[in-house]
Amino acid sequence: MDKQLLQTAYSPEDFRQNGHQLIDLLAEHLDKSLNKSSSKVLNWENPSEEYKFWNNFLFNGKPSDLNNEIIKRSIHLHHPHYMGHQISPVAPITGLTSLLNAILNNGMGIYEMGMAPTAMERVVVEQLCKEIGYGKKSDGFLTSGGTLANLTALLSARKNRTGNDVWENGTSNKLAIMVSEEAHYCIDRAARIMGLGEKGIIKIAVDEGFALKTELLEQSYKKTIHEGYEVIAIVGSAPSTATGIYDDLETIGDFAFEKGIWFHIDAAHGGGAIFSSKYKSLLKGMKKADSIVIDGHKMMMMPSITTALLFKEGRDSHNTFRQKADYLLQDSKEEDWYNLAKRTFECTKYMMSLHWYTLLKIYGKSIFDEFVTTLYDLGQEFGELLENDPLFEIAVKPMSNIICFRLINKDKDLLSLNKINSTVRQKLLEEGEFYIVQTKIKDIVYLRATIMNPFTTEEHFKKLLDNIKRKAFPLLNL
Ligand SMILES: *Cc1c(COP(=O)(O)O)cnc(C)c1O
Repeated sequence: MDKQLLQTAYSPEDFRQNGHQLIDLLAEHLDKSLNKSSSKVLNWENPSEEYKFWNNFLFNGKPSDLNNEIIKRSIHLHHPHYMGHQISPVAPITGLTSLLNAILNNGMGIYEMGMAPTAMERVVVEQLCKEIGYGKKSDGFLTSGGTLANLTALLSARKNRTGNDVWENGTSNKLAIMVSEEAHYCIDRAARIMGLGEKGIIKIAVDEGFALKTELLEQSYKKTIHEGYEVIAIVGSAPSTATGIYDDLETIGDFAFEKGIWFHIDAAHGGGAIFSSKYKSLLKGMKKADSIVIDGHKMMMMPSITTALLFKEGRDSHNTFRQKADYLLQDSKEEDWYNLAKRTFECTKYMMSLHWYTLLKIYGKSIFDEFVTTLYDLGQEFGELLENDPLFEIAVKPMSNIICFRLINKDKDLLSLNKINSTVRQKLLEEGEFYIVQTKIKDIVYLRATIMNPFTTEEHFKKLLDNIKRKAFPLLNL
């Protein structure tokens, strides 16, 4: 076999040259986005046209145009007009740790498949636990995203509450999880995956401020028990995704303790606030949780996806998936913290700790304080701007960097206002100058902005609102 292609593909010299070119291209991209010499956040194209382009490019495109086209045809999170979904404009240094990870490609399942990143992961986990206020027995690991981390935490809850019973024998017992109706959909999905079914997901209504209504906990719990269910866990959101509102973790924690059920906090979005001296109090009561999820790729400036799952009692993290010894997972007397696949859902996972550790090492934890505090401050600022504008209404005073708002008009009914708000958002998307999303809360369509870029300013908010008004006036007959 002639190995010409392999020789080329693995040429260190080609890698060096292509790498330098790509870094130059990305540095230019960052400069244009951050300093906004580029006017657009995204160059909108509909899915079938986009598909046609790439299908054609595979056969007719110039290889030297490939990276340029990818950048041009992707959404630009470093642009200060990006205020859409909750994904980080990454700290550029984590682009470099991504590269390091990609070339080294250690699989992380067992210790020797990632010695440095396994030990670094433990250091990072210890730092996070300390910041939360957990004691010495706490532990945790990094895993692939908030969705998987929430499922893993709920599996830990079930193992903790039911022992080996369900794990070994399966069950037709009626198990249930209590959660706010505003919780992320992945909690519902996790419960269904676990076989709890729709009835095993006890949804608690929210109050006017969109936080779980804690006064309802007792009666809802009693009703559930009365119907023959065993409640294994309760989930608090910090904050919930749609509205950015933090649940009252202190009260939920006390309730869980009193009933002897597992308390899980989904802090995928806002767990990073543990580093914010100004906003840390939003997480008051957090250390009562048995498990906590924090996404690195949301409010901690890291690439997708990397998530921390932390446990008050480290042993729970070892018990979740404990199974009979096989070729990979040998039983050991002491808890071998360094064979991570015993505790994670994944077998192979990437070297996530490189991002967390490098940010801590190079900038220190203060960088997370600067990032979260700046973005939450901007959320307040944008909220105030909207409150003072009679054309707009906010769903709730923002508690974080997520703001739901909508155009209002006393001559229009709910349905037409829903339509107008949706139309404006679609026009914004297709124009590409700003990026925001929309959400529906209790039948009302809201425009939803998540301020993810710490270089967004009040000036940008004003431009966004002017732009929205220009699009809305003809629709409102103004
Ligand atoms: C984003 C989010 C999730 C899902 O996390 P992924 O990392 O996207 O899988 C879960 N819960 C909340 C509250 C979130 O904001």
